[in-house]
Amino acid sequence: AARSVGGTRTTDTHCPYCSLQCGMAVTAGDRPATLVPLDFPTNRGGLCSKGWSSTELLDHPERLLRPLVRAVPGDRTSPLVESTWDAALDLVAAAIRRTQARHGRDAVGCFGGGSLTNEQAYQFGKFARVALRTSAVDYNGRFCMSSAAGAATRAFGIDRGMPFPLSDLAAADVVVLVGSNPADTMPPAMQWFDEGRARGAQHVVVDPRRTATARNAALHLQLLPGADLALANGLLHIAIAEGLVDEQYVADRTTGFDEAKAGVAAYWPDRVERLTGVPVADQRRTVFALARAEKAIVLTARGAEQHRSGTDTAQAWINLALALGLPGRPGSGWGTVTGQGNGQGGREHGQKADQLPGYRSLADPAARAHVAAVWGIDPDDLPMPGRSAFELLDRLGTDGGVRTLLVLASNVAVSAPDARRVISRLGDLDFLAVSDFFLSETAELADVVLPSAMWAEEDGTMTNLEGRVIRRRRALAPPDGVHDDLWLLADLAARLGAGDRFSADPETVFEELRRASAGGTADYAGISYERIDAEDGVFWPCPSTDHPGTPRLFADRFATPDGRARFLRVEHVEAHEKPDAQYPYVLTTGRVMAQYQSGTQTRRTRSLAMVAPTARAELHPDLARSLGIGPDDVVELATRRGRARFHAHVTDAIRPDVVFAPFHWGGASSANALTDPALDPTSRMPAFKVCAVAVTRVGGP
Ligand code: SF4
Repeated sequence: AARSVGGTRTTDTHCPYCSLQCGMAVTAGDRPATLVPLDFPTNRGGLCSKGWSSTELLDHPERLLRPLVRAVPGDRTSPLVESTWDAALDLVAAAIRRTQARHGRDAVGCFGGGSLTNEQAYQFGKFARVALRTSAVDYNGRFCMSSAAGAATRAFGIDRGMPFPLSDLAAADVVVLVGSNPADTMPPAMQWFDEGRARGAQHVVVDPRRTATARNAALHLQLLPGADLALANGLLHIAIAEGLVDEQYVADRTTGFDEAKAGVAAYWPDRVERLTGVPVADQRRTVFALARAEKAIVLTARGAEQHRSGTDTAQAWINLALALGLPGRPGSGWGTVTGQGNGQGGREHGQKADQLPGYRSLADPAARAHVAAVWGIDPDDLPMPGRSAFELLDRLGTDGGVRTLLVLASNVAVSAPDARRVISRLGDLDFLAVSDFFLSETAELADVVLPSAMWAEEDGTMTNLEGRVIRRRRALAPPDGVHDDLWLLADLAARLGAGDRFSADPETVFEELRRASAGGTADYAGISYERIDAEDGVFWPCPSTDHPGTPRLFADRFATPDGRARFLRVEHVEAHEKPDAQYPYVLTTGRVMAQYQSGTQTRRTRSLAMVAPTARAELHPDLARSLGIGPDDVVELATRRGRARFHAHVTDAIRPDVVFAPFHWGGASSANALTDPALDPTSRMPAFKVCAVAVTRVGGP
């Protein structure tokens, strides 16, 4: 995995960005680092523009190289000035001690991210529960994968985004993608779809926008944002009415079908057309294509999941897949397309408010006993589940809320819903510490900023969208004065008197993670660095060293107590906010190809910034004409939460009643200053994908 020639060394590792985790070889030495794509099973030699440009950031002039502290401690209006690690971490440790002494343990909180390695995510959750003994810990995956995770856990007893390998996408005769746009978000993944298409496979895309993925599909269902659940129920209604249900599979492998069947009885095709905007003929075409295919896959992603009813929406698509007998068959099933690089691993190892490593429940006495034994503590000393991400952020600085917050790998000032409210709450904190590579919008608000090592400078493991555990390998040393988050947490724990329980060595932490996960749902017990190196990654669950790993789940049984998958009756609910006279259109948000998440890295990448230099809101020509808006004019979008400005991208690829805004920018172009924090009752996912909006032209191009 590493080769040296002359003064250079080439190391096999993976892209820092999305969950495809494309393989790449990074060469470092006397000159700036360079990379070439690898023929890894996920990308087979492909990379997107983000991957190709990822080494640009290693030597970026804005990179943080020293800890920063306020010139006047406690005064966040005073400038951030360089400090030493010793002084900065002393300030963080003192703030933690002071806050917990005055306000109790839960007044100190931790906020993590889905880009942390498995080891860092594990260590962060343990740090919160063992070093701080606080219940206040959650992470940005709550804003990303929580609805799909909740639905999969309910239906299958396990949440592994894709319960099958990527290669199944090429084997499927029909793939329905619901709210997913891999052609823009993970272009190398399209080769699996292209391979299927070359064999005659059909793809159906469900999306309010005619995205690059939709343009290549056999059928595009351009539904109203937020109507995904109604559409899925409508398709199940047709499948039942037309006798397309796989009765044998339903009888042998599932429970709850009759309830689900009763639940979709009123989803007549013409009613579903009114609710969703999808013509009856297209509904029927989709169901018949899925039912007649020998192999068929339904994939959901954030477009369907980031809703107040996101968990039920994912369940509705699972119900359809189960009725057609898909999950567990090779080349078939339901899956969700994970977003962040370690979005999968990030939700397995205990940085979630309600969870312990191994995807165990924090409220389960047996899980508490197992993990407490690994950590060498009394189970009674483990806190109980705390608040979910938005609820944690929304109570910052209040009585009973968090007063000192440690943020790793997350830019909540841009990525949280109702972002200006969250920024205001961050301002109410007694103390904020942020670890990042750059001075993100969240780091700008901090008392202490800690410079973090970048992906090519650290060792660890990541778990990609298929559940394949892979190695992130260190290709070069971090700049002097920069440390990775594993070291940061171990050092901070030592300052808090718990240093003997934390290591800064990735493999040592991984070995402990293996023990903590053993017997849990996400079981890594049989996975080692050595095996990952030898096998191009290992799929969990892998309970022992002689177990081959599990690329494809559910062949014989589901992970529920009775081994059967569960149908659940789910109902369409109207969006929390509907258009009205003041806010007459629907706002939906999402990604563009050249940017990633909150843009902290990609907005600073010269080649990517040239492609997508400013935030552009998409409007249909009819809507633009009616409002006197021309191409590239500056428009102001206003919702009940705030206003933000974008350049107009006038395109007939979007519905006339919908406006799309990308969420990669903060400040004046913050899409999340507009979004609705109404939460899904199960997953606590905010309603990012639908709110009511007004549009006004405020300037020319
Ligand atoms: Fe990186 Fe994802 Fe692009 Fe692959 S598809 S190069 S993992 S951003």
